[in-house]
Amino acid sequence: MSESSVPQQDKGLERPRCLYCGEVYEPGDVARHTKPVHCGPCITCVDKPACFSCRLMYCVCEVHRYRG
Ligand SMILES: [Zn+2]
Ligand SMILES: [Zn+2]
Ligand SMILES: [Zn+2]
Repeated sequence: MSESSVPQQDKGLERPRCLYCGEVYEPGDVARHTKPVHCGPCITCVDKPACFSCRLMYCVCEVHRYRG
């Protein structure tokens, strides 16, 4: 006989995972992860949401610039 004390968790409430940063975001954060940002000359990160980090070495984009 196995003692299984499964914590009561609401499994029906699965949050979406962001395609860009991989984070599981909350409803209040949806805009940051899905809303495209028209940021400028960098073709790698243009129209990516604000959470996206541009790995391009020369990216000058204030929103997406990778802060390592
Ligand atoms: Zn994200
Ligand atoms: Zn950008
Ligand atoms: Zn960029």
